[in-house]
Amino acid sequence: MTSVHVGPITVRQGDRVGLVDQFGRRARDLRVSVTDRCNLRCTYCMPAEGLPWMPRSEMLTDEELLRVIGLFVRDGVTQVRLTGGEPLLRRSLVDLVQGIASLRPRPRIAMTTNGVGLERVAGALAAAGLDRVNVSLDTIDADTFTTLTRRDRLGDVEAGLRAAAEAGLTPVKVNAVAMRGVNDDAVADVLAWCLERGYELRFIEQMPLDAQHAWDRVDMVTADEIRDRLSQRWTLTPLPATDRGSAPAERFLVDGGPATVGIIASVTAPFCAACDRTRLTADGQVRNCLFSQTETDLRTPLREGATDDELLGLLRGEMWRKRAGHGIGEPGFTQPERPMSSIGG
Ligand code: SAM
Repeated sequence: MTSVHVGPITVRQGDRVGLVDQFGRRARDLRVSVTDRCNLRCTYCMPAEGLPWMPRSEMLTDEELLRVIGLFVRDGVTQVRLTGGEPLLRRSLVDLVQGIASLRPRPRIAMTTNGVGLERVAGALAAAGLDRVNVSLDTIDADTFTTLTRRDRLGDVEAGLRAAAEAGLTPVKVNAVAMRGVNDDAVADVLAWCLERGYELRFIEQMPLDAQHAWDRVDMVTADEIRDRLSQRWTLTPLPATDRGSAPAERFLVDGGPATVGIIASVTAPFCAACDRTRLTADGQVRNCLFSQTETDLRTPLREGATDDELLGLLRGEMWRKRAGHGIGEPGFTQPERPMSSIGG
């Protein structure tokens, strides 16, 4: 029987209960990609012509998704985050949220979205049980937005953010990726804009997950650089690490608070040791890490009549195999075949 020692924890495979891995980490946060399609074409994510989308027949139906999410919840998941692709493109999204909200124990429900079209559905999503949103917005300059996303939709995103706040999907968080020569000189403008509107901003280091495989660490804008740029305009005071838990962002009070800004150093200071995430793709594959080279197929057994216990066994097996770290920067690291848009960011 496998037995692994990490600090004070010893976990034996035969002892495992719930979604635990060999290093004693437990999955609590499930990211569900509900579609791989997107209505933006961010240059760092996918090519202008889009990608070969998953055939509909391969995507899990709402009923299938709810069954699998229910199993995750039964095994200890307490937060479900809907993502994509662009989750708002799934027509049944409101029903899906309602279904997740009726699971017991009820998980917290969050969504990561580009905000296009959110204005129209924010109220219905909140009424169905959505608790919070993260809206991805890398720039507040209209021309840069159009160049970066290859779509002229900044106004829609702004309207979506306002609607989210009005619907009580708070705190409304904004996620931004800084890219050299694209928007890195204006990171302070994005923070100023968010502070004025009461949105909580988090910068995320760009990761090797683009469909084009063009990521280059040398070009990456690091968390330290972002902090230096912001520090030219504000005093950033780090919040104690104990407040962080499994949250990926290092958070700072801005000019003494109460407003904060987060910086997620996924590449330069990975937080894998505290990771509590697991992922389900729209086509029913479970991944224990964004950077996994393998995944566990749930769709086939699901459609062949597997029992709940059999499916739970597969979920637990996938979690058990989670590696200690993502390994970016280590010899032998290779980018996963699936791009971010298909895994679910
Ligand atoms: N369409 C939704 C959205 O825009 O939020 C959800 C999917 S999108 C893939 C989720 C997040 O991943 C976005 O905030 C996006 O900026 C981020 N993202 C995409 N590619 C990335 C990369 N290579 N490194 C870091 N973040 C990335």
